Amino acid sequence: MRKKIKTIYLDHASATRVDERVLKTMLKILKENFENAGAIHEGGVMVKKLLENERVNVSKIIGGHSDEIIFTSGATESNNLAILGVHASQMNNFLGPRVAHTVDSKKGGLNQTLKNHFFVPHVVTTNIEHASVLEVCKFLEKNKLAEMTYVNVDENGIVNPKKIQKALKKNTVLVSIMYANNEIGTIQPIKEIAKEIRHFRKNQNSIYPLFHTDATQAVNYLPINVERLGVDLMTWNSAKIYGPKGVGALYVKRKTPITKIMHGGNQEFDLRSGTENLPAVVGLAEALKITKELKDKENKRLTILRDYFISKLEHSHILKNVGMIINGDLKNRLPNNVNITILKIPSDLLVIELSAHGIYASEKSACKSGDKSASHVISALRNNNLESLRFSLGRSTTKKDVDYTINVLQKIIDKLKLWYN
Ligand code: PMP
Repeated sequence: MRKKIKTIYLDHASATRVDERVLKTMLKILKENFENAGAIHEGGVMVKKLLENERVNVSKIIGGHSDEIIFTSGATESNNLAILGVHASQMNNFLGPRVAHTVDSKKGGLNQTLKNHFFVPHVVTTNIEHASVLEVCKFLEKNKLAEMTYVNVDENGIVNPKKIQKALKKNTVLVSIMYANNEIGTIQPIKEIAKEIRHFRKNQNSIYPLFHTDATQAVNYLPINVERLGVDLMTWNSAKIYGPKGVGALYVKRKTPITKIMHGGNQEFDLRSGTENLPAVVGLAEALKITKELKDKENKRLTILRDYFISKLEHSHILKNVGMIINGDLKNRLPNNVNITILKIPSDLLVIELSAHGIYASEKSACKSGDKSASHVISALRNNNLESLRFSLGRSTTKKDVDYTINVLQKIIDKLKLWYN
């Protein structure tokens, strides 16, 4: 029988272990409060009360009001609701009085009558967003339901707020920019972008464009006060913050024009139909609370560990042996992210070899790992198809883990380079 080896888990950007305290609160609810929040008997009323309590708790942590929190099934759904919901609210009024922006009939293929009135919403995003944003945008674009601008990030993976400002047009209804990238951990200047958007709105005397951020990877580490960030919509999930999978939230600022995309029982302020999942919501709220408590200490500890990891990599013989690039800005990046390109050796092979040694890393976003094409994020940095290897540290990661990982990685590369050189 194979000897059981200790696992070093370095894939926290893709999933985190549920915190014991989260598990405990969830178990209590699972056992005791199974009723439907919509029921009018005492059991249902209790579930509804507990749910609304958590909404208040969550809203306090992100600095919003409780009626601005919509619980969803995760960040994918939150991103879809934000983009499609804002878009749909525009399409509902498309013959309304707002800016009469016409589309080129060759591009849009619309008949003349419609063309004169048709308002085509314009959406601005970046070329390194998560698939749950990019694919929604591409869907709208492909079906000629929206005009899109994908603003390029620089070679360090950061978007320039001035570039966003330049992309804004009269018909821009939404800007959607991730707070921190899931592959390379780069942090976008959300506050500065919000400032540009506010300035544009003022000049246009309009409430548009609305500003959405996908904060899924940021919640663990960065300030998430929505007022201070200046966002109208914010996505996150619980799976990345040591909570359960299958639950997330969308912050929707009061008075934001948005239409539901899922029809049914009209729960969640009529923005998200479906029976409320109290145990999951309780898990998300508890996980968020713990995240807030640990943030400062963990940020300091992980930043030191991340920089140690990077410096050890730079001083290892990997660079000399096969060549290596560190991807993403070294300063404006999440404290837990190390992303490298190891030249010549396929990344999936490295991930499999590392796994055989008990080290769990990833080659690109887990959501895209079945996809054979190169990572769109790495391609966006240097316009090439290089592969990458992501190590995402977390609460359990120690210096010893980092030392061991680098040692093993060096050995694997020494072995594989014979085939690939
Ligand atoms: N956005 C980002 C930045 C992510 O990292 C992820 C998860 N990889 C998602 C969205 C999707 O999250 P979920 O799996 O909860 O739908």
